[in-house]
Amino acid sequence: MKKTMMAAVVRGFGEPLQIEQVPIPVPGRGEVLIKLLASGVCHTDVHAADGDWPVKPALPFIPGHEGVGRIAAIGADVEGYQLGDMVGVAWLHDACGRCEHCHGGWETLCESQHNSGYNVDGTYAECVIGRADYLARLPNDCDPVLMAPVLCAGVTTYKGIKETEVRPGQWLAISGIGGLGHVAVQYAKAMGLRVVALDVADEKLQLATRLGADVAIRADSKDAVDRVLQATEGGAHGVLVTAVSPAAFGQALAMARRHGTVSLVGLPPGGFETPIFDVVLKRLTIRGSIVGTRLDLQEAVAFAVQGKVKPTVHSIGLHQINEVFRDLKAGKVDGRVVIDMR
Ligand code: NAD
Ligand code: ZN
Ligand code: ZN
Repeated sequence: MKKTMMAAVVRGFGEPLQIEQVPIPVPGRGEVLIKLLASGVCHTDVHAADGDWPVKPALPFIPGHEGVGRIAAIGADVEGYQLGDMVGVAWLHDACGRCEHCHGGWETLCESQHNSGYNVDGTYAECVIGRADYLARLPNDCDPVLMAPVLCAGVTTYKGIKETEVRPGQWLAISGIGGLGHVAVQYAKAMGLRVVALDVADEKLQLATRLGADVAIRADSKDAVDRVLQATEGGAHGVLVTAVSPAAFGQALAMARRHGTVSLVGLPPGGFETPIFDVVLKRLTIRGSIVGTRLDLQEAVAFAVQGKVKPTVHSIGLHQINEVFRDLKAGKVDGRVVIDMR
């Protein structure tokens, strides 16, 4: 059997990823080795490689947390999986299983969690280690390239929408129609919501409209907020912010209806101004939302399996990863780029 594999490795923050041969890891207790077929490229991987966030990954590391592949080796004490099973690797690599958050069904808040492609090696490689209890179970015949974005973009926006507490028939504004936002439009429509899409690029708005958005508005137009208030007759019941721009977060508050909830998902470095008077008088809820639990993940996968959510994807080879990072930073990727490993 092969002892090494190809991987894209971050050796320095802000530096190009290195495509190199690294040892194939061996699964330990509770772990499996997954031979990857596809890996989506999330903007989070760009933040990770640039060291954008307060807690940085230890160098060197392999990014990637939208992995789809088949089980190629099984470690000790793993039950319920067989060689060849199709599985998904998400951001939540594992959690402690014992803290108040894990017990409460909020393992995504566990302080002892590990994250794929951040503090454990991720999916920009031929193989990856997964923790059996935290994998997504996928149909054996699913299309790995179409399924990959569901593992982060899908579950994150599905959960983020649920966190706005919007009900069918109500308005959801989605700010940022990138990898996350374009699947958010599809989840929202499948969940019976009315959708206003906002982005700073016409192509993204066209994509949103093709995917079913009821209204599409340029976020950088002077009257963007007024147009949202008008289209929704008083503001969106929920706002999902996936934009990689702090300006979008302040704008999101202004688009919310009285009693509305703004679900913050995008993670650009920085902060934004919060107008206390508006938040208080309009009784707004501002809520962070981080990926989704294992249950959210299985629910998000089910939408894709039923054909209700179908990411718009562009396939690349691993060696093209640095070009894709450049395009993501420039806002030039429509839908999701997926590394095809087949
Ligand atoms: P992406 O680059 O594919 O999409 C970002 C989109 O934001 C682009 O379409 C861009 O044109 C748009 N945008 C930029 N400025 C804007 C503005 N002022 N108003 C409206 N839209 C604007 O990125 P992605 O992969 O979709 O990730 C989006 C963000 O979500 C990243 O910061 C990522 O780290 C974060 N993220 C968070 C979670 C979570 O659990 N909270 C999970 C995954 C990703
Ligand atoms: Zn992600
Ligand atoms: Zn825990």
